[in-house]
Parts: sequence; C-alpha cells; structure tokens
Amino acid sequence: MIIGVPKEIKNHEYRVGMTPASARELIAHGHTVNVETFAGAGIGFSDSDYEAVGAKILATAAEVFAIADMIVKVKEPQAVERAMLREDQVLFTYLHLAPDLPQTEDLIKSKAVCIAYETVTDVNGGLPLLAPMSAVAGRMSIQAGAQALEKSQGGCGLLMGGVPGVAPANVVVIGGGVVGMNAAKMAVGMGASVTMLDRNLTVLANLDNQFDGRLKVVYSTHDAIEKYVLEADLVIGAVLVPGAAAPKLVTKELISRMKPGAAVVDVAIDQGGCFETSHATTHQDPTYIIDDVVHYCVANMPGAVAKTSTFALNNATLPYIIKLANLGWKEALIQDEHLLNGLNVIAGHVTVQDVAEAHN
Ligand code: NAD
Repeated sequence: MIIGVPKEIKNHEYRVGMTPASARELIAHGHTVNVETFAGAGIGFSDSDYEAVGAKILATAAEVFAIADMIVKVKEPQAVERAMLREDQVLFTYLHLAPDLPQTEDLIKSKAVCIAYETVTDVNGGLPLLAPMSAVAGRMSIQAGAQALEKSQGGCGLLMGGVPGVAPANVVVIGGGVVGMNAAKMAVGMGASVTMLDRNLTVLANLDNQFDGRLKVVYSTHDAIEKYVLEADLVIGAVLVPGAAAPKLVTKELISRMKPGAAVVDVAIDQGGCFETSHATTHQDPTYIIDDVVHYCVANMPGAVAKTSTFALNNATLPYIIKLANLGWKEALIQDEHLLNGLNVIAGHVTVQDVAEAHN
C-alpha cells in the first residue's frame, strides 16, 4: 500500500501523522511511505530523517494525495485537502465531524473511506486514540496550574510542593478519568496535597489503590465540590459526560468565594468547560482573571507540546495503520469491530449516528 503523510496546515499545528520510526515500521511491512517535505520540521524531524528509514519525500501535498492509497494525518482535513481526496482513498485522522457541517459535506462528496481516531474504541469501552492526548493534557494541566499560581501570572504566589516547613498547595481535581489521573500523578509528584472528586465509585476505588494513600478520593456531590473548591489553591476541571457538553460543576458564585489568587485549569473547555466562568483561550494568551481567580482554559493543550504529543499519538495509531495497510481497509474493518467504530464516512454516506443526527 502507498501511505501518504502530508504536512499539517491548520494554524499552529506542528504535530505530524507519522514519525520516522512509524514510517520505518510500515516500510518493514513492505509498504511505501510518501512524506510531504518539511512535514515533521516543526518538531525536529528533517526530510533526511524520513529518507534514512526509506520513506520518499514529495514536494507538495498534491503529490502526496494524488498517489496515496491511505492518508495519515493529525487534524481534520482542511478545505484544500478535502478537495484532493478521492473515491476509495482511506483517510485516517482526527475528524470531529459532529460540529463541522462543511467538512462532513466535503467528505461525503469525496466518497473516500474516512476513519476518525476519536471514535475508534477498545475492549474496555475506552477511546484508545483519544486517551494519549488526554494523558498529555492532564499532565500539562499541573504545569499550567503551577505557573498560574505565580505572582507574575496573577496568582497568590504559592509553590506547588512548598518547602520543608511550609505547606504545599492544595490541588483539587474534578473528574478522575484519563486527564484527572494524569493530573493527579503530576501534582502528587510535585509534592502537592491532592484531592480527587469523581462520581464513579469504581474510578475512586481504582485511584485509591493506585495512589496508595497519597491522594484523597472523594465522591463528587454539589456539597463536596463546594467544600473542596473553597479550600483549594488550584482546581483542575477534568470531567466528561460522553456525548454531552461538560456540566457546569463550579458556579460563578462559588468562584467568587474561592481564595484570592487561586487558579483553575479547565481542561474540559473543549466540551464547553466545567466552570461557569470559563471561556476558551489560546496558547498565545492562555489566562485571564475573574474575581481574583486565574483561569487557564486552552482548548488544544497538546498542541503546545507537539513533539511529545506526536510520539504519544503515533504509539497509539501505529497498530491500526499497520492493520489497515496489511489487510486493506475492507478486511481490516471486517476483522476489527473497534476499528470499524472509527469509520465515519464511506462511499458518500455518514456511518456514525451522532454525526448523522447533528447534520439532519
Ligand atoms: P474520561 O472519560 O477518561 O474521564 C472523565 C471522568 O469525569 C470520568 O471518570 C467520570 O466519572 C467523571 N465525571 C463525570 N461527571 C462528573 C461529576 N459530576 N463529578 C465528578 N466527576 C465526573 O475523560 P478524559 O479523557 O479524562 O477527558 C476529560 C475532559 O478533558 C474531556 O472533556 C476531554 O474532551 C477533555 N480534554 C481536553 C483537552 C484540552 O486540550 N483542553 C485535551 C484532552 C482532553
């Protein structure tokens, strides 16, 4: 199979669909990998790194799209890329079609086989190609929160771990899934005093076992949220209700009663945010202050650490890319029901109910 890796063209996107190491794996399986020139330049992969593993460098995206049986990307294809897709060509990338009618219409028109990372499932009912980005965002949320607590950022001037003789920061994480667990791991590692709230008892039991007393786990109710948020120096919003906007668990009124100079990091901002005072910000201007509380609400946190994110994403996508390339898309989707769940558009038809309903 001929696999094409175009350079990402979305604003400030430095990730790349395949690392040289991933390309090497596909080439070892007998496939051809064509990479657009400078595709990995933003994170330090040169064209010669790809050539060294046997990939071919092509000068333009048009050449990559023209001869590829499968396109492997990171972000949803932009209009100019969608125009280059063709019938039966496989597109494997993040799509997020439900809120994006123009993209959905173009993919229908292309008659390509469009498989979205974000709807591929695993045996545990998880989303294995979303999880790596949640892990990145969870870990990053503590870095962002630690910075927000500094005086220069509007914070109260608190060091996360304290020092001997001085108490550490009080960190509260709401939502103990992939983001929350990774945030807790970093906060505990920095020496903060950490409390996790979740409304799933199995999640709480697992975290309790995993952290072995270094993390307080609390059942999430309005009462518990109020109590712990008022005691917090830093609150991480990490909830997800699948298929729904994030619940506004922390009201504007509660924010106004938080400690002056406290900070909130709303990782769930990509689903609307779980603090009533949240609005999406960018890496260029990530924070703002309401009622003396510093808010960090960047919707695409993994983009800031594009190198780590690219490796993390490739580790998760590689087995599926190999399967699609070795078996061909038809047999791969027949053999793997979880990969089949990734199929969003094929032969001019939407195959995911949420997407179809969103554009009805
Ligand atoms: P997840 O499904 O692994 O975990 C969500 C957790 O929230 C679950 O354990 C669930 O029980 C818990 N929860 C639901 N309602 C709750 C409530 N009322 N109180 C307490 N806990 C509650 O999801 P995840 O992968 O950890 O993602 C969390 C959020 O982070 C999602 O909105 C996701 O889209 C977002 N995210 C954002 C970025 C970013 O760059 N901003 C990056 C990755 C993920």
